[in-house]
Amino acid sequence: THFGFETVSEKEKGGKVYHVFESVAKKYDVMNDMMSLGIHRIWKDLLLWKMHPFPGTQLLDVAGGTGDIAFRFLNYVQAQHQRKQKKQLRAQQNLSWEEIAKKYQSEEDSLGGSHVMVCDINKEMLKVGKQKAHAQGYKAGLTWVLGDAEELPFGDDKFDVYTIAFGIRNVTHIDQALQEAHRVLKPGGRFLCLEFSQVNNPLISRLYDLYSFQVIPVMGEVIAGDWKSYQYLAESIRKFPSQEEFKEMIEDAGFQKVTYESLTSGIVAIHSGFKL
Ligand code: SAM
Repeated sequence: THFGFETVSEKEKGGKVYHVFESVAKKYDVMNDMMSLGIHRIWKDLLLWKMHPFPGTQLLDVAGGTGDIAFRFLNYVQAQHQRKQKKQLRAQQNLSWEEIAKKYQSEEDSLGGSHVMVCDINKEMLKVGKQKAHAQGYKAGLTWVLGDAEELPFGDDKFDVYTIAFGIRNVTHIDQALQEAHRVLKPGGRFLCLEFSQVNNPLISRLYDLYSFQVIPVMGEVIAGDWKSYQYLAESIRKFPSQEEFKEMIEDAGFQKVTYESLTSGIVAIHSGFKL
């Protein structure tokens, strides 16, 4: 398979992935920062800039885990909507900036109808995400749903944008997850995937291998007391298809105008496609 799980059955892979994320959930965010030296934040910001959601966007974030994409989306649409509203109000009513700020304090108002549905198969990851949302004051425009990327609990043609960040390599049947993405998107909707990919520079590739297989499992053991889960993460990253192979898989699922952009020498890539 594309995932290199030749030695375990499909059922075993699903169980193994579940155990990995159940076990890492509480330390997931801190480990992400440590392992990527904080760079995952920039990659996720770039995903949002690429999405450039329009007011009222209905986003489905699959394998959304602890909510990193969802929170970035809410911040983005809130800032965008408030800028627009304030400009309009100021032009129409000649109010002061202070009066306008007071008028637009309510969260519901300030999202302009945009909404994000976070869907993940692991209730422990969702639990951490919900706690973060509560602690950081996110209330409106956000729903958490337990569900499998391969069998999404949503009807057809429901969302404007589908995102999956560092999630698709963990799915057992990637082709099925892609077909599901296509099914739930509205015609004209966009698929965006942020995932580890193939490094295109030989020197960086060697250093990256050393880092992934020698350093990451040690960090996993020291910080999260879990060598095996972090070894799995490093292995699953290597076994994911190349930028071009993955592009073809997205096209096979029915998406059009499929493109990708490699970031940080191909350590990760953002793939984009449209349901037309
Ligand atoms: N998107 C988040 C981020 O970027 O921080 C979380 C990524 S985390 C590496 C991978 C997530 O994929 C985990 O939360 C895991 O539970 C989820 N996952 C794995 N298999 C899945 C499936 N079949 N359906 C939905 N989520 C799945």
